[in-house]
Amino acid sequence: MHKHPSALGVATTLTPAAPVTLIRPQAAARAARFFVEKFPGRSLYAVKANPSPDLLRTLWDSGISHFDVASIAEVRLVAETLPDAKLCFMHPVKAEEAIAEAYAVHGVRTFSLDTIDELEKIMRATNDATDLELCVRLRVSSEHSELSLASKFGAELGETRELLMATRQAADALGICFHVGSQAMSPQAYSDAIERVRAAIVDAAVTVDIIDVGGGFPSVYPGMEPVALENYFDAIHRGFESLPVSYSSELWCEPGRALSAEYSSIIVRVERRRGTELYINDGAYGALFDAAHIGWRFPVVLLRDEESDAAMTGFSFYGPTCDDMDHMVGPFMLPDDVATGDYIEIGMLGAYGCAMRTGFNGFTAETVVEVADEPMASLYAEPAPARRRATVIKLG
Ligand SMILES: *Cc1c(COP(=O)(O)O)cnc(C)c1O
Repeated sequence: MHKHPSALGVATTLTPAAPVTLIRPQAAARAARFFVEKFPGRSLYAVKANPSPDLLRTLWDSGISHFDVASIAEVRLVAETLPDAKLCFMHPVKAEEAIAEAYAVHGVRTFSLDTIDELEKIMRATNDATDLELCVRLRVSSEHSELSLASKFGAELGETRELLMATRQAADALGICFHVGSQAMSPQAYSDAIERVRAAIVDAAVTVDIIDVGGGFPSVYPGMEPVALENYFDAIHRGFESLPVSYSSELWCEPGRALSAEYSSIIVRVERRRGTELYINDGAYGALFDAAHIGWRFPVVLLRDEESDAAMTGFSFYGPTCDDMDHMVGPFMLPDDVATGDYIEIGMLGAYGCAMRTGFNGFTAETVVEVADEPMASLYAEPAPARRRATVIKLG
């Protein structure tokens, strides 16, 4: 692994012809310590946001001991990388073989489910094990979130009573979990969901041992600047304290984005300029899936030794593949004199960015460089990073 003091240094000394992935372990460690110290319960890292083994080790070293995994490949990856980690298999629809291997080979005891079918599947796959922690996933609203997770999973009101009672019979510990959708922009999302949990508990009259409020904790992007995470934690703590659960019950959360967004960014090169359209060497099939498909705006900065004093202009990007869909509408704010050959850092790609990369059309990014400078934005830096504060804040 190469190490460099800064993104600018990487661009000017390596002058890379392909995109470079930058990693900032210190930023991920800071995010992990924040959750470990301030979340009023246990924080599980949701591996799908970024399964890089280096990141998994960084989070572990910073106090994250539990991992939310969703596939047998994620189970194997974390078990191999961190043999002492506790794995929670939180995908509500699993292959029976995956459950059996997770239980028998990797020691997984925690599973989520949202139907009686899945409960029966788990019991078959574990030979009616008596040491299971089973979390019933409730469907909750995604109205406060940028990315909905409301239509695919979760038991509906009306189905939860029977499901909670049957799961209580089968489980050593009974949990209730939900996911408010990713990048939840208001703590209210969690308060509302916890009210759903209350109704379900009262209706089924079961003893609940675990409340898992899922992921959805936001990061910071242009035009999406959430209130401080402490507000989310306070809302969750208040809601949890008022639930009719046993005195010894546990509170869990499963952040993916919030623990990984600041970990990575990329350096791309401009290969052509056409008006306010820049043809860059990474795109929709690389780290910019969300920028292309849901118009997500990531922060950008021009990496030049001499800072440009040209006025800021909104640009759109084309990625390197031959596909028209490889287009990121932005707008991405850059100095108006940006030209072919310039390098740009695109920030906050540690969550659902670098993890989504494909090799489509022969374009990929193999070089990874660790840098010591601050990420382009942060929810954890005190004070907010000065280097790019204006870039991030003014874009809103
Ligand atoms: C994706 C996912 C997460 C992580 O969500 P973020 O919005 O990245 O925090 C947590 N739990 C489950 C079950 C998920 O599917």
